[in-house]
Amino acid sequence: MGKHEVRCVGCGSAQQPYALSCNKGDGSLLRAYYAQKKLCLQDLPGIWKFLDWLPVQGTIPGTGDGSITYRSSALARELGLKNLFISFSGYWPERGARMSTCSFKDLEAPPTVQRSLERHDGRTLVIASAGNTARAFAQVASIAGLPVVLVVPEVALHRLWITSRIGKIRLIGVRGDYTDAIQIADKISALDGFVGEGGARNIARRDGMGTVMLEAALTIGHLPDHYFQAVGSGTGGIAAWEAAMRLIVDGRFGSKLPVLHLAQNLPNAPIYAAWSGCDPGKSCKSQEMFDDVLFNRRPPYAVKGGVCDALLDCGGEVYGVTNEEAASAKALFESAEEIDIFNAAAVAVAALIRACDSGKISLDHILLNITGGGLSRLREDLAPTSLKCDILVSSPDEATKFLEG
Ligand SMILES: *Cc1c(COP(=O)(O)O)cnc(C)c1O
Ligand SMILES: [Zn+2]
Repeated sequence: MGKHEVRCVGCGSAQQPYALSCNKGDGSLLRAYYAQKKLCLQDLPGIWKFLDWLPVQGTIPGTGDGSITYRSSALARELGLKNLFISFSGYWPERGARMSTCSFKDLEAPPTVQRSLERHDGRTLVIASAGNTARAFAQVASIAGLPVVLVVPEVALHRLWITSRIGKIRLIGVRGDYTDAIQIADKISALDGFVGEGGARNIARRDGMGTVMLEAALTIGHLPDHYFQAVGSGTGGIAAWEAAMRLIVDGRFGSKLPVLHLAQNLPNAPIYAAWSGCDPGKSCKSQEMFDDVLFNRRPPYAVKGGVCDALLDCGGEVYGVTNEEAASAKALFESAEEIDIFNAAAVAVAALIRACDSGKISLDHILLNITGGGLSRLREDLAPTSLKCDILVSSPDEATKFLEG
């Protein structure tokens, strides 16, 4: 085996290096199995120092600023927690965080783009996104010179800006929601010369996000007891679980999996509904959510190696957070820690507040993943450039005609 091999989590069979699903057709997630079993840091900046546990050979200079982890004092005091650690993915130079587009999608994009380049097939990467993912990929692909097509709901187009020079980007706005954008991206990916990046199925995305857990374990000195994150697809939760399993094999970071505490924003919370065993019924698009980044209609929940397996393995929990809870959690976090955070991240803070009410975790080591923030802080330092929408479409046909024309 080289640096890593790719195997199916369901049946264990070896898979092609760039496969997104099992060739036996069982639908399971694939996973990277790295030759290096000890976490060994490379002398490289940002997330690239974890190169041994990323499914790529090389790096993209000028990308890959990683998350930071610090021990909270103010929020910890407010919540009565003795060992609260915050993982911050965003822009906060005073604490050493310089992630270019302010969310933890900045951890997924660099290894995914690099993996796409290493494939050398000249195909254009297609990405459907509610905004944050497209922004992160636009930035990294521009720096790397990789052509990309971004498919984003019209209402999320305002989230599309970057801080680098704009590269070979085609931005398609969709009159519809994130699910419509995914359907259109799937159609485009089937065209000659295009390839879908695969979302949660792409091991580069998950192992990029997994660096949050690696970074935190290095700072804390061992694995946390609990991990709090707001989820849409749940990919970050799967990634945290997989990274924790690798750290357990390493042997120096403890032997107990962190309990995953995953939070969704009601009412559109399919992972919460599936986990709590209630019937999600018809999700009501009309109802305003505190954060629409977190809405994914088809998360990788029941698939082997997916969210449900991760939750069962660690004894995890899922929270349904109301808009009111998220809003007050956001205010509390921002005044205590003195940095602005994204609404999505506030949903995780709200889950932590609820878990604290039980009083059972006050002494435990807790990792709170602030998945995005520092945008106001970034605007003080940098001048982000908005990306221009190339075409607004209502159907897959309009999009494919535009790209073929
Ligand atoms: C994407 C995103 C999430 C949810 O991530 P998952 O893929 O569901 O793990 C949470 N917060 C922010 C800021 C995000 O951009
Ligand atoms: Zn399989």
